[in-house]
Amino acid sequence: MGLYKIEAIVLRRRNLGEADRLVTVLSRSRGKLVLVARGARRPRSRLGGRLEPPTRFRALVAEGRTLDVVSQVEVLDAHAVLRSDLERMGSTAVVLEMADRALADRHPHPDVYGLLRDALALLGGGHECAGLWFAARLLALTGHRPTVSRCPACGQRVRGAASWSNVLGGCVHATCSSADPRAVPAAPGAMALLRFLLDAQPSAVRRLVPASSVRSSVAGLLFGYAEACWETRLRSPAVVRALSVV
Ligand SMILES: [Zn+2]
Repeated sequence: MGLYKIEAIVLRRRNLGEADRLVTVLSRSRGKLVLVARGARRPRSRLGGRLEPPTRFRALVAEGRTLDVVSQVEVLDAHAVLRSDLERMGSTAVVLEMADRALADRHPHPDVYGLLRDALALLGGGHECAGLWFAARLLALTGHRPTVSRCPACGQRVRGAASWSNVLGGCVHATCSSADPRAVPAAPGAMALLRFLLDAQPSAVRRLVPASSVRSSVAGLLFGYAEACWETRLRSPAVVRALSVV
């Protein structure tokens, strides 16, 4: 049984037994890990408060027979501001859930780790498009980049109003979308924003201030597309919509 060090971000946590916690984290060098935080629910535990989502931390991990055990947690960024209002909490929940769903355990993905770290910093700064940027880049980095320029059905460029099909892989000509009865209209403004987000650097995301109608249109397309790619339902976007904070 060995020891290893990690730098990681807490994605979620759940209770285990009487006093322990299971903590799902995205580590920089080892990918997504599920770790045991022993005694984390005891009132005087130092571990518990240090392993709340979306804390970024360093720690020592001991390999166990079934689950590895985390200790010596040093907080690098508690992201207290992300727990300060409903809008930020909602966007943070969406980002953390997407990271969790997109990645398999123990597959290192340093680009996604860097993306998550940058997205949390942008969310902390109150930047409106941080969550959408994260979703678009996450899909691109994990092999699910949607098409936004060339119609996958006919290979020709898409200009102006078009359709969006999760099955066909993104933006298609309205005339080419008949293969997918679930295709929906895609507004030109939404396509322009999505095209931009797919390759944007964090500094460019800071300057973006799109109309809220364009933002919610892109959110609907991206979350629906992610659910189709990962064959799952995302819980947090629905919760955020219900709270009317997107
Ligand atoms: Zn076409």
